[in-house]
Amino acid sequence: MASFAGYLKDVKSKIRETNVEAVKKVVADRKGKAGDGNGLGPVLIDVREKDEWMEGFIPGAQWISRGFLEQRIEDKVPEKDAAVVLYCASGTRSVLAARSLADLGYTNVASLAGGFSAWKRAGLDFDRPFIMTQDQSIRYARHTMLPEVGQEGQVKLLKSKVLCLGAGGLGSPAAYYLAAAGVGTLGMIDDDVVDASNLQRQILHATDRIGMPKVESAAKTLTGLNPDVKVNQYKARLTSENVMEILSQYDVIVDGVDNFPSRYLLNDASLKLRKPVVHASIYRFEGQMTSFIPGQGPCYRCLYPAPPPPDMAPSCQEAGVLGVLPGVVGVLQATEAVKIILGIGKSLAGRLLMFDALATKFRELKLRRDPTCPTCGDGVDPDKIELIDYEAFCSVR
Ligand SMILES: [Zn+2]
Repeated sequence: MASFAGYLKDVKSKIRETNVEAVKKVVADRKGKAGDGNGLGPVLIDVREKDEWMEGFIPGAQWISRGFLEQRIEDKVPEKDAAVVLYCASGTRSVLAARSLADLGYTNVASLAGGFSAWKRAGLDFDRPFIMTQDQSIRYARHTMLPEVGQEGQVKLLKSKVLCLGAGGLGSPAAYYLAAAGVGTLGMIDDDVVDASNLQRQILHATDRIGMPKVESAAKTLTGLNPDVKVNQYKARLTSENVMEILSQYDVIVDGVDNFPSRYLLNDASLKLRKPVVHASIYRFEGQMTSFIPGQGPCYRCLYPAPPPPDMAPSCQEAGVLGVLPGVVGVLQATEAVKIILGIGKSLAGRLLMFDALATKFRELKLRRDPTCPTCGDGVDPDKIELIDYEAFCSVR
C-alpha cells in the first residue's frame, strides 16, 4: 500500500515545477499591456478554494477550484498544447492538479513550487477579487448576461483606464459610451473651452456651460451619467514634455485630435509605451477610423511618415461637419476600445474603415505595416524614438 508521501514524490518526479522568480517575470511582462496582457506567457490558474482566492491571488491569475478543474479547464484553455501554470497555497494540490491535466492531454503544464505562500513570502504584490456592489450588478446586468463579457469582463472594464484625446466631436460620444459601459477611469485632455458652435455635435457639453473648460464640462456629464467613473481632467495640449507621463497611466487611447502635431506625438509616444490607439478623423460627411496596436499592423507613420511642410498644409479654414457624423464614428471608437479591453472580437488593426454619411455606406481598406517606417519599421527600437514637437502650423479650431 503506497503512502501519500510516496505517491506525491512519484507525481512530482513527472511534473515540471516552476518558481516564483519565473512567474514574477510573466506577471511583470503583462503589466500595462492591452487586455491585461492576455495571451502573453502561460495561463496562470489558481486551484485553491474560494475562501483562499478571496483573500488574494497572483495578479492575472484565473480561478478554478481544484474540485472543478477537470470539468472547467477546457473552457478556459481550449488548446491542449497551451502553456499553463497551476498554483495552490503551498505547491502540493497544484502538483496533483497538474497530473490530472496531463491525464487530460495537456502537454505543457507546470506547478508553482511553494505556491501562493512562496509568492507572499517573496513580498510580491497580489490582487484581491473585485466584488461588484448591488447597484453595479443592476447597472451592468445587460453586460454580465453576455457570456463574452460576464462579471469578469465587467470588472475588467471597471478597472480599465481610457484616455480620450479631445473632448470635442469624437471625444464626446466616445467618452459618453465608455462611461456608460463602466470604464472605471477616463482621462480627458483638451485645452479648449465650450463654445456655442460646438453644441451642434459635442454632446458632452451644454448651453449653460459656454465658456467652461471642456474637460470640466465633460467630467460633469460623465460622472452624472455614471458615478463609478473617475474622470481625470487635463486642460492642456499634448507636448513632448507631458505625453509620456499622461499616456503611461492608461490602457487604451481614443484619438479624437484635430491637429498634426498631436497626432504624430501621440503615435510616437504610444509606440514607445506599446499602447493601443483607436484613431479616427472626420471631414464634412465622411469619417474614417482604424486601430493602431503595436505589434499588430501599421502605425500612423506607416501611412503618413511625416507631416506636410507648413506651406503645403491644407487651408487653415475650418471645415464644416455634419453634426451626427462624429456620433457614428466616436461610438465606433468606443466599441473598439471596449473590445480591446475585454480582449474579444477582431480589432480594426490593419484595416481602415470609412463611413460615407450621404451614401450611408461603409467601406474598408487593408493597411499594411511599412517595413521602412521611421517609427515601427524593421530594426527600429521603439525605446529610441525621439519625440518631436512639430510646429502647430494649422490650427483648425
Ligand atoms: Zn509604422
